[in-house]
Amino acid sequence: MAEAIENGELSGRLWFYSNYHCNLRCTYCLTESAPGVPRRELAPDDMLDAAHEARSLGFTNIGVTGGEPFLVPEMPTLLASLAAILPVVVLSNATLFYGNRLEALEPLAGAPVHVQVSLDRADPDDNDEMRGPENFRRVVEAIPRLIDRGIGVRISTTLEDPDAVDADEMERLCELHRSLGVPDEDHIVRPIVRRGRAATAEMGVAAGFEQLDPELTVTADGAFWSPVGPTVRGGRLDTDMLLTRTTAPLATPAAVLMQVLAERRDGEDARLGIK
Ligand code: SF4
Repeated sequence: MAEAIENGELSGRLWFYSNYHCNLRCTYCLTESAPGVPRRELAPDDMLDAAHEARSLGFTNIGVTGGEPFLVPEMPTLLASLAAILPVVVLSNATLFYGNRLEALEPLAGAPVHVQVSLDRADPDDNDEMRGPENFRRVVEAIPRLIDRGIGVRISTTLEDPDAVDADEMERLCELHRSLGVPDEDHIVRPIVRRGRAATAEMGVAAGFEQLDPELTVTADGAFWSPVGPTVRGGRLDTDMLLTRTTAPLATPAAVLMQVLAERRDGEDARLGIK
């Protein structure tokens, strides 16, 4: 596995779905996340055990996603503990970073943790149409608060068709993230993937096993081929990219992933390279 990571055949990132619930209800959400959905939480101790094992298997970094990870009360201390094992990126909608939840981020100051914040459009109304009322305002207020506290921030922009975006609008978005303290190299643009609510609304690009690069992903329900795998549609977990129900020891799903990788023939479909 370490060799496959070193030669670029396999991503060095191990993903965790910490939870599936969210304070938002975005129109393109892959996991149909919302406040009242089943939480499918991963136990923090299980994540720490898997991270230790991941390091010895040759993984180089950790991703944490959801749902909204910062709805899990112990998330800041968990991230600090994970970052003591491997560098971490955590995906967040950044709408919860005020009051006690902002103060609770103290353990992340100066740690090898980046918060990857979703911000889709330069225009508040366009952004909020997909992500909900006041989302734009909350996000642009939160980013400087994180940076002021010594926490690394990346911005992730998710668009129906990134190639069709007006160049002026993209430049306005880039001017905005630069003004908030996030440089160009920390701005990621990616397409909506047609799974979860996006599939129901017939938005985005189709992405299945053949289009997605392998990135081992651990959830409360099992281990998957990619973080785009454990999506939810109609309230049911998609299992088309399920590797194993067993997630511990991590070597079990890791071995299955390596076997699938070895057997996968290169098809004609282009890889999407979604980050
Ligand atoms: S896309 Fe992210 S922020 Fe939006 S509902 Fe889904 S998990 Fe929450």
